[in-house]
Amino acid sequence: AKENDRNNCQFYSPDLNARNLERLQMELRLRQALENQEFVLFFQPQIDARSGQLIGAETLIRWQDPLHGLIPPGRFIPLAEETGLIQAIGDWVLTAACEHQARWERLGLPPLTLAVNLSARQFRQPNFVEHLIDTADRSGIDPARLELELTESMLMKDIPQTTGKLQQLKARGFRMSVDDFGTGFSSLNYLRHFPLDVLKIDQSFVRELFEDEAALAIIDSIIALARALGMRTVAEGVETAPQRQILQSHGCDTLQGYLIAKPLPEAEFLAWRQSYQPA
Ligand code: C2E
Ligand code: CA
Ligand code: CA
Ligand code: CA
Repeated sequence: AKENDRNNCQFYSPDLNARNLERLQMELRLRQALENQEFVLFFQPQIDARSGQLIGAETLIRWQDPLHGLIPPGRFIPLAEETGLIQAIGDWVLTAACEHQARWERLGLPPLTLAVNLSARQFRQPNFVEHLIDTADRSGIDPARLELELTESMLMKDIPQTTGKLQQLKARGFRMSVDDFGTGFSSLNYLRHFPLDVLKIDQSFVRELFEDEAALAIIDSIIALARALGMRTVAEGVETAPQRQILQSHGCDTLQGYLIAKPLPEAEFLAWRQSYQPA
């Protein structure tokens, strides 16, 4: 029946309703977007909480659709995950991040760490580690300047496989962080055995800092846990000076959020960098 739908465009058949059709069209558009290179990376600065120095940036993908303008990742990453297109998109992101890094190095800019979001499916690919090493090698960048962001559920899914991959990545010098930390379910015992570098405090805790006492208690616990395990903390979603102040005084290492800068396209990011003065 499915074959028929595709060949004869039988839109009224019960298993191809309007929703399915919309998804199918979106999948097609995503494939074309890959082909036509319509994806772009934006960069959001990360600063040292104490000195205010710029130390890195998170790369965030956008889809520059000629028809609909700039589309945020929340509107296409889930479908890309479902359809498997995320593997090609994820490859593109890694290659593009390495190329940007290499270009900035050639321009003689002081080195930054680029944080890159990985998707579960991408990380689970059997050849993910080899492929990443290859990509980094080809661009000539230092793996220590690439920070791979994983989520708790990705880490906890297949612990032996995860441990193996993380150890291989660590041996090659890549850095690794846990994104949205505190929102998932990590086994603290396994966390202890993974060679991770950073815990990223989820922005929901930062947002509720002054509304919910528990939020600050959770932030304090994450900072204490990171310290005990020899890891650093990055707070994301920092939007106000009071949030920055309290995160700083509670010992958070790195800050990221609209207060410092929004995610910016390359040219604007480089201009921002040039005029930025640590407060
Ligand atoms: P995330 O990794 O948790 O990224 C942080 C999100 O918070 C970004 O949304 C960023 O623009 C936004 N943000 C940054 N500072 C602030 C702030 O001060 N206040 C508020 N309210 N928001 C802030 P964005 O760019 O729409 O990305 C959404 C999600 O899409 C990301 O969440 C990540 O899970 C995913 N994503 C983005 N780029 C990639 C990618 O290259 N690959 C994969 N697999 N996923 C990606
Ligand atoms: Ca992230
Ligand atoms: Ca996050
Ligand atoms: Ca998130």
